[in-house]
Amino acid sequence: MQVPLLDLKRQYQTIKSEVDAAIAEVVETQYFKLGPNVAKFEEQVAEYSGTKRAVGVASGTDALLLALMAHGVGEGSEVITTPYTFFATGGSISRSGAKPVFVDIDPATYNLDPGKIEAAITDRTKAIMPVHLYGQCADMDPINEIAKKHGLIVIEDAAQAIGSEYKGRRAGSLGDIGCFSFFPSKNLGGYGDGGMITTQSDEIADLLISLREHGQTEMYHHWTIGMNSRLDAIQAAVLMVKLRHLDDWSNGRSANADYYSGRFEGTTIGSPHRMAECRHIYNQYMISVSARDALREHLKEKGIGCALYYPKPLHLQECFKDLGYSEGDCPVSERASRETLSIPIFSLLTDEEKDYVASSVLEFVAA
Ligand SMILES: *Cc1c(COP(=O)(O)O)cnc(C)c1O
Repeated sequence: MQVPLLDLKRQYQTIKSEVDAAIAEVVETQYFKLGPNVAKFEEQVAEYSGTKRAVGVASGTDALLLALMAHGVGEGSEVITTPYTFFATGGSISRSGAKPVFVDIDPATYNLDPGKIEAAITDRTKAIMPVHLYGQCADMDPINEIAKKHGLIVIEDAAQAIGSEYKGRRAGSLGDIGCFSFFPSKNLGGYGDGGMITTQSDEIADLLISLREHGQTEMYHHWTIGMNSRLDAIQAAVLMVKLRHLDDWSNGRSANADYYSGRFEGTTIGSPHRMAECRHIYNQYMISVSARDALREHLKEKGIGCALYYPKPLHLQECFKDLGYSEGDCPVSERASRETLSIPIFSLLTDEEKDYVASSVLEFVAA
């Protein structure tokens, strides 16, 4: 049996008529730059995330960079973040001109460990950028408390976490500003790149609207230097269709996660820790085993898609070697990068496929 890590063709078959009509409508109107679809989708994401405003941009990476720019974080600033994340988290901090400062993660959730943040704060620290990794929110109460005490802003990297909840509130509304990605493999994935920034501040939202179009306030009048980073109108049309199904899909992932975790209970397979009072949307379902690479080979032979998120933490990446980190500086992240593996979790997995995946994993640990 072949079980892909993610099968977006299967998803498309269930929404084909809606998506095809939405794309055709944009093409008919030839309204490709911003316009009614982008404005409507921005309103929907703001409402869905529990924020006053949302601003569509070209990618999740740009969302992070623009969020930093809008808060004046750049040259001479430091931003505290996790090294156990997709590259864009650290990359966007460097791109802004600021310096990423990597703080290790909590071994249970793989998210930024709030207990290690204060030791990393200096007089140059301007912001904390927690990541809601795999679709589970970072422990935001202590993070916000530290930020408040030291006058720092909190930028949520919510790229993997649309609809995820922390104590009744949604990702994107938990810090000062939230950043989403609509990269195709996210829970809400477009048919290309896209991103969104959420905020409770009209002032910041209006600033972002200017920054995403070269820092203009009116056409060809530029008060500052921004970027070309708009959300594409075709993507907005597709994403509005998909947003209607998002909760079903995320709940399906969560049910699949419960199934796997039940099967793995009492074995040497580490399954994801779900925090109390939180909604995990399982952008990835990560298992951990010490013989990870051998398990990966075993699953490959069985025809099961799996992936490493992420095999090398950011503090050990070549491009960051000037920051002066070395092996051992973030041991929990380093260990996670050696022992974790994602297995298929998408909502349209069949019962037969789930059983096959779980049985194949268990067969490996029994052997
Ligand atoms: C996907 C992702 C991003 C970047 O989003 P893009 O839309 O691919 O630019 C940033 N941070 C995290 C944690 C991500 O998973």
